[in-house]
Amino acid sequence: MQNNSIQIDKEIQDIITDKISGDIFRLIGQTADDIHLECYAIGGYVRDIFLHRQSKDIDIVTVGKGIELAQAVAKRLGREARLSVFKNFGTAQIKYKDTEIEFVGARKESYQRDSRKPIVEDGTLEDDQNRRDFTINALAICLNKERYGELIDPFGGLADMERLIIRTPLDPDITFSDDPLRMLRAIRFSTQLGFDIESETFDAISRNKDRIAIISGERIADELNKIVLSPKPSIGFLQLDKTGLLPLIFPELVALKGAETKDGIGHKDNFYHTLAVLDNIARKTDNLWLRWAAILHDIAKPVTKRFDKKLGWTFHNHNFIGEKMIPGIFRRMKLPMNEKMKYVQKLVTLHMRPQVLVDEDISDSAVRRLLFEAGDDIEDLMTLCEADITSKNPERVKRYIKNFKIVRQKLKDIEEKDHIRNFQPPIDGEEIMKIFSLSPGMEVGRLKSSIKDAILDGAIPNEYDAAYKYLVEKAKKIGLEPKTS
Ligand code: ATP
Repeated sequence: MQNNSIQIDKEIQDIITDKISGDIFRLIGQTADDIHLECYAIGGYVRDIFLHRQSKDIDIVTVGKGIELAQAVAKRLGREARLSVFKNFGTAQIKYKDTEIEFVGARKESYQRDSRKPIVEDGTLEDDQNRRDFTINALAICLNKERYGELIDPFGGLADMERLIIRTPLDPDITFSDDPLRMLRAIRFSTQLGFDIESETFDAISRNKDRIAIISGERIADELNKIVLSPKPSIGFLQLDKTGLLPLIFPELVALKGAETKDGIGHKDNFYHTLAVLDNIARKTDNLWLRWAAILHDIAKPVTKRFDKKLGWTFHNHNFIGEKMIPGIFRRMKLPMNEKMKYVQKLVTLHMRPQVLVDEDISDSAVRRLLFEAGDDIEDLMTLCEADITSKNPERVKRYIKNFKIVRQKLKDIEEKDHIRNFQPPIDGEEIMKIFSLSPGMEVGRLKSSIKDAILDGAIPNEYDAAYKYLVEKAKKIGLEPKTS
């Protein structure tokens, strides 16, 4: 192991000194000195200093008892500090203002084959750095007074940051086999930071891909979401594909691959198309679930694909079938089965609709229906539709963009006129039951929808009196008379 703590040039040293000049680091260092513990800032916080990324989470490693140091630091920080101790894990956390500081004793880890939970023993700083996943995550800065600001970079992490490289400190086969989550972390860091994964590290991911089976769905989902939230998520998905991890964690996406040709007619490769849509949307929004809608918008194309002699390739109803596939995918991938999933489903179902509204002869009622169904998500739907334009033909792109501008205008005009977006029919089910002395049942539902449909179709205005009159007429046809006036 080389120790290049002596080799740091002045510019780097100045950056470190500046970053740890704050009272909090001095206080931690001083407290550690007072109780005779070696103490370092380590990991992501140190990495992010050199990448000029803002980081609010500070990891502190002590050679000795991390909890003891945390307790002493919390005492000195006073009432503003909130200390949590996790005895079982030998860790402690202090929340102080908007900073979270984690304390842990330096540890040595050894792994067993069937688990990513290591056997942990107390260790030296060197042991602790050896257990880190990547060279760029293994840097430490000493906080003890005598060596304050000294950088300990045993694996050349600083140089890897300059070369934009992700690399494991030790044999990558062992690193990934020990804790297979690190394979996803490598791809996630590469995607977030725009770094390359060094080829030996990359090849080791391919060799160890099947070990991903011991990782929980929740952890995989966490990493995947970080990839999805990166500036250019396709980088991560292409690496997941190349290493062979993608079929293991997201087979439905892999099924989009391939461009078949029949009778001289081809269709686009929906895998690369989907990734292009995802990158497009990532340029527009940080909304994770809108990004997921982009990933899933064509997910049912493989199962709906047909070849028709007259029409060529068709993917009829892929939006509806896609909507139905989503709960299964979310459940397996441990994504939330709540209103976020419903939002993704809604966008996937509706993603073909705005394009239909381009037609000059389209009725106001079609526009109103889309406004009603999309509600507050209409903007997001339009963003998705615009991101869905991935043609290489600039003329075509121009035309599509212009068409969506027209659609946006129609949506705006109708919304201003009819206020449909969040509209509730002026007479609800409760009132219908009261008017006709009905108990809950299908009849009530049908009458309620008939009012909604009449308003959306423009048959009646969105007003109480008109709705009441319409309801009474409609009810009469099925033999119902109002019991109240
Ligand atoms: P981010 O905050 O973006 O997730 P991070 O590097 O701070 O990045 P954490 O998960 O908070 O990520 O981990 C903190 C540090 O702990 C890492 O920098 C790394 O040194 C170490 N670490 C985390 N997970 C692992 C792992 N699975 N294997 C080895 N070391 C790890």
